[in-house]
Amino acid sequence: MGKILLYYKYTEIQYPKRILKWQKQICTDLNLKGRILIGKEGINGTVGGEDKAIERYMATMRKNEQFADIDFKLSDGDADYFPRMAIKVRDEICALGVDPEKLTVKDGGVHLEPEQVHELLSNKPDDLVILDARNNFESRIGTFTGSITPDISNFRDLPKFIDENPQLFENKQVLMHCTGGVRCERATAYLKTKDIAKEVFQVNGGIVRYTEAFPDGHFRGKNYVFDRRVAVRITDDVLSECDLCDTACDTYTNCVNMKCNAHYISCELCITKTKNTCSAACMELVASEKVPVRVPFATAPEQRVVAKK
Ligand SMILES: [Zn+2]
Ligand SMILES: [Zn+2]
Repeated sequence: MGKILLYYKYTEIQYPKRILKWQKQICTDLNLKGRILIGKEGINGTVGGEDKAIERYMATMRKNEQFADIDFKLSDGDADYFPRMAIKVRDEICALGVDPEKLTVKDGGVHLEPEQVHELLSNKPDDLVILDARNNFESRIGTFTGSITPDISNFRDLPKFIDENPQLFENKQVLMHCTGGVRCERATAYLKTKDIAKEVFQVNGGIVRYTEAFPDGHFRGKNYVFDRRVAVRITDDVLSECDLCDTACDTYTNCVNMKCNAHYISCELCITKTKNTCSAACMELVASEKVPVRVPFATAPEQRVVAKK
């Protein structure tokens, strides 16, 4: 078992293509897999590999002055938790769909450390609003108690949600959170441009850092992640139901009909009954051999959050 790294850094990168070339070299040399996005506004990545390779990756990054202070979040895993190594140059390193020159992290909300987040959530002031900046399929299986969970399936739809629901934030202290913190950096800046909230905070290091510090804190259920683990269990609470039979369940699977590939929640019983398909229609198509079928999604064994200290 190796490690998975999650990190980002907003910093002005003059020549993203040079960083791209450099990253491709390192990742090839170290046999890493994952996804790295590079833009003029910074770098955002998640990579997996052997322990030594991950250590060397971090050491190499830290030697570069611009990336020396990156907060690397580590968890168990390896290169095979990702299908490939994808490194790309993009305008936005986390796509909110807003011009990165017009909306920068400099105008983002105040960063709160896990301890400060915990205190705020424990004190629960009347004017506090918790906003989950993630997608519906993520917040469905786990979130902070009392969070507003927008029904969006893409981060690019968050600005529209904010535009359409200003009353939720009017004169409130808003605490925004996401998986590792990268999405909140510019999403809090976006909310601030509306000038409706009393104060805008973001969870530094996101759900990952908060739950490491407070595994039995205010977050319930599972933290969704974008690799073969799919989610990391934080508490035993099951917030969602099986999409097929409605029993309490928070395990995602993918329909084996490759043309469908629905990502849905299914209990063991329904997986067996439907032969790992999402519907009667897909089960019929698969049985008729009219569609390409893939091997059932091999999720990594369930992990539980590892408390720090
Ligand atoms: Zn079921
Ligand atoms: Zn299907």
